[in-house]
Amino acid sequence: MHSNVRLDGPDVFLKRADGARLRSVDDVDYVDHLLGQGPALFGHAPEFLTSAVDQASRDALIFGGQGEREVYAAELVCSVLDWPDMVRFGLTGTEVVQAALRLARAVTGRTRVIRFEGHYHGWLDNVLVAERDGAWQAASSGQLESHLEDFRVLPWNDAELLGEVIEREGEQIAAVIMEPIMINSGVIEPAPGYLERVRRMCSRHGIVLIFDEVISGFRVGPGGAARRYGVTPDLAVYGKALGGGYPVSALVGREDLMSRIGIGDVNHAGTFNAWAPGMAAVIAALEHVRDDPPYPSIIAHGTKLMDGIREIGESFGEPLRVEGMPMAFHVSFGDAEVTDYRSLQELDLQRYASLASVLVEHGIWVARRGIWFVSEAHGPAELDDALTRFKTGFKDWL
Ligand code: PLP
Repeated sequence: MHSNVRLDGPDVFLKRADGARLRSVDDVDYVDHLLGQGPALFGHAPEFLTSAVDQASRDALIFGGQGEREVYAAELVCSVLDWPDMVRFGLTGTEVVQAALRLARAVTGRTRVIRFEGHYHGWLDNVLVAERDGAWQAASSGQLESHLEDFRVLPWNDAELLGEVIEREGEQIAAVIMEPIMINSGVIEPAPGYLERVRRMCSRHGIVLIFDEVISGFRVGPGGAARRYGVTPDLAVYGKALGGGYPVSALVGREDLMSRIGIGDVNHAGTFNAWAPGMAAVIAALEHVRDDPPYPSIIAHGTKLMDGIREIGESFGEPLRVEGMPMAFHVSFGDAEVTDYRSLQELDLQRYASLASVLVEHGIWVARRGIWFVSEAHGPAELDDALTRFKTGFKDWL
């Protein structure tokens, strides 16, 4: 396993990822609802994407200088998102989160960062946390606890609490960073008015608001969560669907902040940043999002899938909680009202995890943590297969 996120995965080795399906070395077919943890928004290896990248690879793999595609790719990112002025490309979500935090500290001259329970911002020492005995601490052996000293972890979706902390400590807070939709824990949308209130508080206190849209970006709509809820952050980070499966990420934001990187005052580096075929992937993905949006078919498919899963639970007298959006939703047992990480724990997440393991054995590739993704490549045959396999898997599991 080369990512610990896969540690709870089954003992299966895969050889093909094509459209909405995976195939194992033993020739078992899976309907894929994990989609590489999110990137495969258009399904696996769509022709429009692979041919653009193949062509670009023949032109160049790497320049060590500015490439012609990166300018157009950056312009596309700004125009499709419709709010940022400038872009810096990287490879992974983890690294552009770091660039955003460094930039926020540079422009404010402050060090403290507010983040939230259940949100994931990459695997590095200053952002990786886990809850132990009610406290949020370093999650990994070998991780320096001291790197977390400047971070405060608060419950999300609670504007009152955030307001109190900002009133008290605002002068020291450089940034508030959040997943504007908490997809990593339960696929929970922001409470009505929450993002607007956070936006106002940050503006009033000179705090940089960072949206981590590494999953939500381009998945929940062309403008990500920022456009969905009509709230514009100061900086935002994107990854996953931005390259449709090729490793590309981006830090975007307002010119007055971003230009501090441009003039070299704030360092952001990386041998492979804006790698040439990666820029072709961004261009192909975002032209597709702009000219032939995948959302109507993803929404139609995801809605039927969510309804079908609910019906199967009902038919066995074991209601399933299926919540979120058709592009990314969460399945579990329990009926708590879930608004944040703490209320999410009131669901029976372990029970669903055991069902998910059986679903994998029945040919649906899903995460044990309950999250399901849908791609543009999912069609009627995949819907039929997923629901039939869900039903037989459920029966087996009961
Ligand atoms: N931010 C969010 C919201 C994520 O979901 C992830 C990865 O899952 C990251 C950051 C880190 O991205 P990467 O795995 O590309 O480093």
